[in-house]
Amino acid sequence: THFGFETVPETEKAKRVYKVFENVAQKYDTMNDAMSLGIHRLWKDMLLHAMHPQPGVRLLDVAGGTGDIAFRFLEYVRFQQERQKRRTVQSMQTPSWEDISNNYSTEDEDAPQESRAVVCDINKEMLRVGKQKADSMGTRAGLSWVVGDAEELPFDDDQFDIYTIAFGIRNVTHIDQALQEALRVLKPGGRFMCLEFSKVTNPVLARLYDAYSFQMIPVLGEVIAGDWKSYQYLVESIRKFPDQEEFKLMIEEAGFYCVKYYNLTGGVVALHSGFKL
Ligand code: SAM
Repeated sequence: THFGFETVPETEKAKRVYKVFENVAQKYDTMNDAMSLGIHRLWKDMLLHAMHPQPGVRLLDVAGGTGDIAFRFLEYVRFQQERQKRRTVQSMQTPSWEDISNNYSTEDEDAPQESRAVVCDINKEMLRVGKQKADSMGTRAGLSWVVGDAEELPFDDDQFDIYTIAFGIRNVTHIDQALQEALRVLKPGGRFMCLEFSKVTNPVLARLYDAYSFQMIPVLGEVIAGDWKSYQYLVESIRKFPDQEEFKLMIEEAGFYCVKYYNLTGGVVALHSGFKL
């Protein structure tokens, strides 16, 4: 845990973003459920499904906030690990009790084999809430919390197998700089994955979505978190973010290969993926 140093945001946008998440941190999870009608959970599950991480993988979750992606990652890896153990045991023709107990060794039950998830966020408050959540869930071997800026990550080169950023990149001031940093900290062969609000493709859904977000989201923000402005900012930042194709191009320009995207919920959210070769 590195709560030791302060990251002081320099630009106006960065200051604003910092204040927004400082204000909403405590209510952040509740707001996410209320505003997305719980659907953000499915989007995050889909990210994990597409990632399909295996035991031993190292994840960096940037703008990781209260840790949703990292929790899901560790859970998924643990599940894979259990499955592999079960398969190994089943494939043994005449297993002795010794074989079985070796394969069912409970030594590491809490820690996915060498899998690590690092949650990195510029906002100490968001991380504090996430860490509390981890403690109350009795987790988390393999998890660490680091204060850091997506534009200047406090990690060495070639460290991670997977870099994720979920609903975070639109808050970053220089997206190209954040993409460069993602490329730098990934190992060759590593994967970049980003969940972000995007452009709704179906015109009917687009109209409904516009009405909902412009009119309802600031109201919910006021009612639940007592903070209209932060949630108005949220809606505006979604509108300003590049659409699926533009963002794909930016990822390619940063130097990633095999860049693809998938629309979720008709393009309300897009999942972009690319590889460092
Ligand atoms: N990934 C989490 C999730 O999906 O629930 C949190 C997303 S939240 C909408 C956006 C997060 O981005 C906030 O926690 C905020 O502090 C963080 N953030 C904003 N600018 C950042 C930056 N430059 N570097 C790192 N994190 C940043």
